Amino acid sequence: MSTVNIAIDGPAGAGKSTIARMTAKQLGYIYVDTGAMYRAAALYIRENNIPDCEFENALENVDISLKFIDGVQRIYLDGRDVSELIRTPEISMEASRTSAFPAVRARLFDLQQKIARENNVIMDGRDIGTVVLPDADVKIFLTASPEKRAERRFKELSEKPDCPSYEKILNDIIERDYQDMHRETAPLKKADDAVTVDTTNLDLQESAEKIRRIIGERI
Ligand code: C5P
Repeated sequence: MSTVNIAIDGPAGAGKSTIARMTAKQLGYIYVDTGAMYRAAALYIRENNIPDCEFENALENVDISLKFIDGVQRIYLDGRDVSELIRTPEISMEASRTSAFPAVRARLFDLQQKIARENNVIMDGRDIGTVVLPDADVKIFLTASPEKRAERRFKELSEKPDCPSYEKILNDIIERDYQDMHRETAPLKKADDAVTVDTTNLDLQESAEKIRRIIGERI
């Protein structure tokens, strides 16, 4: 029996993960956050000081795996749960830098396709509709202005002790967008058959509602 695959791509902070998680829960699908896989690879590279030219060999020997507990994804590096450790601004930037290397992408590609073959999924990332799941049943490109995305991230982080400034968050977002859109392998871009949803002027509920409608019309 074939599975249902929904691809959501877009830049950092557009609301992909929150909306995908909510929607997956409603549909009873698994939500797969592929960014977490790139972050785990980046953490491994950083912790082990792996030079760029050794990515291929080094990543061949590391075990990156996911577990879904009540539909919520946890990510493991050689059996160690790194789900929280990967959520730092440094790892965001390192993931963006290292994900441009074809050896890193190739390492994670099979794992992503296998999960989608075996489960009904909402998978989010940068290249899901274009490269990983080109035959996805629904493709959505979720975006918002860089200022709005930075504002949301700032609000989210403002409770935490060492919250970066709004300007720093905005600059990181702009730099990450640029890197993700201009790399040679699997750059961030809208698939020709994806539906664009711009959430700049929508709140979370409105964005989620719009996405549910798009999915409902297609499956
Ligand atoms: O989605 P998230 O912000 O956690 O992703 C971290 C980084 O991983 C992105 O900036 C991007 O460079 C990379 N990534 C990617 N392809 C994906 C998902 C994430 O290149 N499918």
